[in-house]
Amino acid sequence: MIYAHIPFCESKCPYCSFNSFAARVIPREEYIAALIRQFESDRREFGLDRFGSLYIGGGTPSIFAAESYAPFFEKVSPFLAEDAEITIEANPVSLTLKWAKTMRSFGVNRISVGVQSFCDRKLRVLGRAHNAKEAKTAIAAAIDAGFEQISVDFIYGVLGDDLKTLLNDLSEAKKLGAAHISAYALTIEEDTPIDRQTAIDDLELERAFSEAIEEARYPRYEVSNYGVAPSAHNAGYWEGRDYLGLGAGAIGNVKRGDSYLRYAPRKAIGEYMRDPLCKTTEAIDEKTRNDELLMLGLRCDHGFEARILSEKERERADFLARNGRLNARGERYFNADFWLSDEIWLYIKG
Ligand code: SF4
Repeated sequence: MIYAHIPFCESKCPYCSFNSFAARVIPREEYIAALIRQFESDRREFGLDRFGSLYIGGGTPSIFAAESYAPFFEKVSPFLAEDAEITIEANPVSLTLKWAKTMRSFGVNRISVGVQSFCDRKLRVLGRAHNAKEAKTAIAAAIDAGFEQISVDFIYGVLGDDLKTLLNDLSEAKKLGAAHISAYALTIEEDTPIDRQTAIDDLELERAFSEAIEEARYPRYEVSNYGVAPSAHNAGYWEGRDYLGLGAGAIGNVKRGDSYLRYAPRKAIGEYMRDPLCKTTEAIDEKTRNDELLMLGLRCDHGFEARILSEKERERADFLARNGRLNARGERYFNADFWLSDEIWLYIKG
């Protein structure tokens, strides 16, 4: 798997803590050249030459003119599996028909649109750069360009949210032809300028929204993700597969011999472009990796393998299975209630 990070945005949303910047001048060509250099180096260093998925995220990847990606796809595509899932994130302001068509011509087969809501009042509260009309036009453009796998991102738990607004968001997404929905609670991160009161905690509303998404025939397969066709790339993270992390702010994770290596290129864009091969690395021991796999497995319907548990943890997992909190099938356990993922994790860890 390959993750490539594009750390530029049209404007900086006040709640956003991602490595993303609203730059007046965007050095597209230099940045793409740096991604290519890192890809070639990482691929050789980690001995990886076949990738089942590519995810270009951000930031806002659609802020780059579509043609800017041509050299990147030219270098990367020969290493992608024939049936690779290739996703790109896009924001409504910059997702045009021409852009989407060019992405299709590069082999991109999945698009994730940062809609957040179809309610203009809510979009203003969130400080988003687009309005509802632009979001609808952007999704229509993706459909016209031939995308079948369109994912729509929503944010809930925003001041002024009510079930009517959330259900309207859902029904608009369905009407427009979204195949997949990601729904995230607004969280207030340190060092972001958003008013702390903007996030509301309403578990009842959260559950009602989640149930409505499922009833609209988007099965919940992960805490925040719904759809008949789950994202293969995200599933790869949850299963602990190797992935390259390209770009300023990306993280990669690869197996090296018997251990695992997590690495991060420079976060500052200028530094990254000057030396895309410079990275910080962290060795991940077996115990840390198993803890992460357990946490991830409890958050999605892939579950987790019994072998990652210690003897004591397995006893506790079996106890939960006898009490209906986990489902045990063969040598795997599956979470029976995503709302309790954190509590179950704490219980198993003892
Ligand atoms: S568009 Fe997305 S990545 Fe960019 S600032 Fe807003 S939330 Fe952050």
